[in-house]
This record gives sequence, C-alpha cells and structure tokens, in this order.
Amino acid sequence: MFDLIIRSANLPDGRKGVDIGVAGGRIAALERKIDAQAGEEIDAGGRLVSPAFCDPHFHMDATLSLGLPRMNVSGTLLEGISLWGELRPTLTKDALIDRALRYCDLAVSQGLLFIRSHVDTSDPRLVTAEALLEVREIVRPYIELQLVAFPQDGYYRAPEGVAALERALDMGVEIVGGIPHFERTMEEGRRSVEALCRIAAERGLAVDMHCDETDDPMSRHIETLAAETVRFGLQGRVAGSHLTSMHSMDNYYVSKLIPLMAEADINVIPNPLINIMLQGRHDTYPKRRGMTRVRELMAAGLNVSFGHDCVMDPWYSMGSGDMLEVAHMALHVSQMGGVAEKKMLFDAVTVNSARTMGLEGYGLDVGCKADLVVLQAEDVQEALRLKPARLFVLKAGKVVSRTAPVVSELFLEGRPRTIDGGRDFVPRAAG
Ligand SMILES: [Zn+2]
Repeated sequence: MFDLIIRSANLPDGRKGVDIGVAGGRIAALERKIDAQAGEEIDAGGRLVSPAFCDPHFHMDATLSLGLPRMNVSGTLLEGISLWGELRPTLTKDALIDRALRYCDLAVSQGLLFIRSHVDTSDPRLVTAEALLEVREIVRPYIELQLVAFPQDGYYRAPEGVAALERALDMGVEIVGGIPHFERTMEEGRRSVEALCRIAAERGLAVDMHCDETDDPMSRHIETLAAETVRFGLQGRVAGSHLTSMHSMDNYYVSKLIPLMAEADINVIPNPLINIMLQGRHDTYPKRRGMTRVRELMAAGLNVSFGHDCVMDPWYSMGSGDMLEVAHMALHVSQMGGVAEKKMLFDAVTVNSARTMGLEGYGLDVGCKADLVVLQAEDVQEALRLKPARLFVLKAGKVVSRTAPVVSELFLEGRPRTIDGGRDFVPRAAG
C-alpha cells in the first residue's frame, strides 16, 4: 500500500525514529513504526529527514556567468550591475537555458527543489524571460521554479522599463518585481512601488521587490511598500527582498517601521551571503554588516526566509546551491547561535521560504508532497554546522539524487579507523 517507506528518520521538530510512508507522491503515514511493506525502502538510520530546501530569491539568468565578459574588480553591487549591463546584450536564449539547467542539476543534488528566480526585464528583447519560461517547463518534473519580472536597471530609469515589465508578465512571468532604491530619485522610487503594487493588484499577482539594498539609512522604500500593500489589499502576497538599509536605520524609526511591516504581512527575504559580501563597501572601519534585522523581524512575527541570490555571477564569485550554507552565514552575521535560534534559521530555508513562495502541500505532515531530503546529520543543529551530504533527495516520493555518505579513513596508530564527520562528533550527554 506504500510505494516507499523511509525508516527511522529524525525530523526537524525533534521527533526521532519516525517512519515515513509514501503513496501516490505524498506522505501517507508518519509514525513510530509502520507495520507494512513497500516497493522501496530507505533506511535513514537516525538521520535527519527534512522537506526539500526552498530558495525564495535567486537570479537564474545570471548564474554561472562568472568572468563573462570580465570579473567584478571592485566587488561592489554597482559594478556588478554595470558588468551585467555589459554582458546582457550578448546573451542568447540557448546559453541562458544551458546555464540555468546546469544550475538546476546542482540544486537537485543539494536537495533544493523550489526556487524563485528574478528575471531581468531591462533588455527589451526579453531573451531572459523567453529562456527562463522554457526552463520552468523543462525542470517542472523536479524543480518548482517561480519567476519574477525584475527591472534591474530601474522600472522608470531604464528606457523601456515600464513596457518591458508588462510584456514579461503577458508572456507568463508570474510575479511583479521592482528596485525602487535604484530609480533616479527617491520620488521615482516611491512612484515605482505604487505603480508595481497596482499592477499586481489588477492582475491578481504577488509582488517581490529588491527593496532598499543599500547602506543608506534614509532608503525607506519598505515603508511605502508596506503602506501600498495594505492599500491594495495585498497582505501576505508581498515580499521585500534584501532590506539592508534597515541595518543602518535609526532604532526609533525601526520601532515604527516593523509594526507597519507586520500589519502588511510582508515576507522578508534577506540574502546573507550577498549582503555580507556587498554591503558596507563604502565604510572604512568599523564596517557595517549590512544584513537586515533578522532577530527583531522574527520576534515581531514576520515571516523571514533566506535567499541564495547569486552563484558565480557578476555579483558573487562563490556559492554552491546549498541553502544550508546560506543559513550558516545568516547564523554568524545575525549572531543567532542558540538551539532555538538554529531551528528558526533552518525554518527560514524550509517552511518559511515555502510560505513566502505560497507552496501548496509543503511540509512533513500526512498529505504533504513527498519532496524530501535525507541528510548525513542527526538533527537541525548538526545540519547547520556541517552542511552535510544530501544522501537522498526525493521528488514526489521518487529518488532524484543520491550521494554516498562522506566517511574518512584514518591511518593513525591507536586511533579510530574511520570518521563519519557528523555522527562521530555529535555532542551527547554523558552515559
Ligand atoms: Zn537579487
């Protein structure tokens, strides 16, 4: 009656030794000991089984383009944007599809099965949108890909920004993006937020804006985004990505702003790897960290999920499609190392991201889709510490990726013969 049973799984909520029965691509049973047979069995052996990872903020049109046509010398956000502007006219649909599919292969091997990607609409050829719409269909059997129409060069600032964004939505891109802090003036930024929220309301779409990705504490477009969200009745459907200016804002102002964001039910998407790399670049010392106020936003009840943002592109030469690496950086930058805090950070790359993306049937309950990852770690804390091997990745109950456990052999007199980097070093109570 089950297609697959995963035996002896530890779950992110702390439950241990649970069997997960899968039928028809969904979780059909979740109990201590399933007394039944299945066509296929996976022995998790007391290792962590999580819902697959979700990345709510990525740029799949730029990924794996590192070095084309040259490297980012200053390492700044602004040079990255101008470098992307040099590369963009040379992009072809085939090259875009090839790079995107290669990234999706990597993502699957990392247990990352849900991705929201921004699609640059600044070049009116819209070859980016054409390519990623095709990729969305190709990868549908294994990755759920959401696309955001993103006016990288400014909705008003780019010559055909307004018309190109509308056209991308007409083509089937399903989320409205924006970049108010990059418009020519604060006023044009404010007007862009209003116009883009109106488009979303009229078309019944969600909004996900790059918002205040700057160290300027006076960059307050998130205030407008929250207000317009309420005005257009878009609560819960709007995401503010980055929000790095909040790092530098005055505390008194933030004490007014966060409740406003909570009222609008804004989904907050920091991008820890990119924020720590790109922000504070104009500072000497002390240097600001530039990541938004994760702890405070979570404490206020806002839904905070982390994005990977970039992998080997004009903005960031690193990255491996590993959402645990993202959460690992967030843990350090936001100084959230407590046990409960680690669980909150793990949630930020799983259940919180799923909520941001509005995913149906995501999670570890009976009836949820069996989109799962078995990790070479025993619990959430160890997963964050080790960024361990993804032993099995399952989409709708079918194995789509498998990695052998990483076990080192030692050749030391009087010392153990092998080391399982996770299991042999998990802190345990004595006895
Ligand atoms: Zn971005």
